[in-house]
Amino acid sequence: MQFTRLRLNGFKSFVDQTELVIQPGLTGVVGPNGCGKSNLLEALRWVMGETRPSAMRGGGMEDVIFAGASTRPARAHAEVALLIDNSDRVAPAGFNDNDQLEIMRRITRDAGSAYRINGKDVRARDVQMLFADASTGAHSPALVRQGQISELINAKPTSRRRILEEAAGISGLYQRRHEAELK
Ligand code: ATP
Ligand code: MG
Repeated sequence: MQFTRLRLNGFKSFVDQTELVIQPGLTGVVGPNGCGKSNLLEALRWVMGETRPSAMRGGGMEDVIFAGASTRPARAHAEVALLIDNSDRVAPAGFNDNDQLEIMRRITRDAGSAYRINGKDVRARDVQMLFADASTGAHSPALVRQGQISELINAKPTSRRRILEEAAGISGLYQRRHEAELK
């Protein structure tokens, strides 16, 4: 699964539409303190279906919306779109007739989040499952937050096991079993 573009609009410090082209291979993000490097990684995690505000360093999910600055008013919504090369047809049934996948998440103040895959409205779960099955996703160990290495060293064995299960690509199966047991 190759990410090709990330588009942000009103997300945290990215108040104006910003588009990043993600080339194959290793990507480095460099810049001075506070320029938005971590915000970019949070945007990636967010569009993949992250639901914990704490993972976005906020108290509530609406904290991802541009909060305003001395010269700019706050925004009413934030939007992040992730474009994925789907030439290897990793997308779930119903979305697999396209060489490109566009995952979009939008949050509006007081109205919560809405998700789209290639322009079709979907549930958060559909987006989360797509990435869980591709063994990446909002909780993926491939995205290592600042401070996460020391957390990993101090983690309990059960949390370490969860990380290994995600890396093995089986966390989607656990989620489905959990949902089946609730029915
Ligand atoms: P460091 O090198 O210190 O890790 P960084 O490049 O990772 O810095 P970020 O933490 O991504 O920087 O960006 C922090 C900036 O984003 C701060 O200036 C903060 O005010 C701004 N910011 C965060 N959330 C919002 C928001 N909702 N609205 C406006 N600005 C925001
Ligand atoms: Mg940072």
